[in-house]
Amino acid sequence: MTVGIVHHDLFAEHLAGYTHPESPGRYEAIMRRLRRSAAAPRLSFIEAEPAGEELLALVHDPAYVRGILSLEIEEAVVLDWGDTVATKASPRAANLAAGAGVQAARLVLDGTIRSAFCCVRPPGHHAERDRAMGFCIFNNIAVAAAYLVEKENLPRVAVVDWDVHHGNGTERMFLEDDRVLYVSLHQYPHYPGTGDAGTVGSGRGEGFTINLPMGAGAGDRAYLLAFRDRVVPAIDEFKPAFILVSAGFDGHAEDPLSGTLLTTSAYGRMTALLRELAGRHCGGRIVSMLEGGYDLVALADSAEEHVKALLD
Ligand SMILES: [Zn+2]
Repeated sequence: MTVGIVHHDLFAEHLAGYTHPESPGRYEAIMRRLRRSAAAPRLSFIEAEPAGEELLALVHDPAYVRGILSLEIEEAVVLDWGDTVATKASPRAANLAAGAGVQAARLVLDGTIRSAFCCVRPPGHHAERDRAMGFCIFNNIAVAAAYLVEKENLPRVAVVDWDVHHGNGTERMFLEDDRVLYVSLHQYPHYPGTGDAGTVGSGRGEGFTINLPMGAGAGDRAYLLAFRDRVVPAIDEFKPAFILVSAGFDGHAEDPLSGTLLTTSAYGRMTALLRELAGRHCGGRIVSMLEGGYDLVALADSAEEHVKALLD
């Protein structure tokens, strides 16, 4: 079976600002690379569909969802003190970005594709229940996770987040939920400031949040050791019915927004480990969603490495 690449032209229309690092060029660089890749004949390119109010409201405040979706923007609207800006296409792009994960999850569940990478903008993992934050408007990965447990009734879904920034929004949404295991590897301390190792979930969710802070300067060795010692055993114990990945590539050594030193090949190796876990526990079912990654060459290299590792 092929690997799905879920995409949409509108992901290149959302403008976060003319000099903003979260640029349309990111989407274009990855898509151009994937279409020309030696792996392209084994990829299924699938156009994203919108999530819609009901699914967005699984993790977001309904009034926030309606507020974003009904925005009529002439120039630009600042959603989060300059960091997160919406322009004309942004509400529709954000709706499609969240919908992409749900659509990929459905296609994986019905056996159309084995796994998928959703090449989306805006990213999602910083978005909170009722506010945009850190370049994110809707929490794409959280909508997909909530869809799987609420609508598909899967008992357990693992979310692995290797974006260099901590996914504060995703963590918060599932902090008290034992059906969603949230595992994050991130530079710490760093934006957004959350993600210390002592935050492990609460109530029924205690033990189902795992934060693995990485120092500035951490590279492949530190990440792969964390995978071997923490991520793999935790997922083996959890036995997920589905694995979701917040695939940010901004931990790359070339990335301007981080101090970590991952190489391109690390993204392939981490993907391969998750693919093995998915093979053991859930029939290979993995859906990843683009989060950050701001050096366009390193981003395209890393995303291609990730997709190839999903295929092998
Ligand atoms: Zn990031």
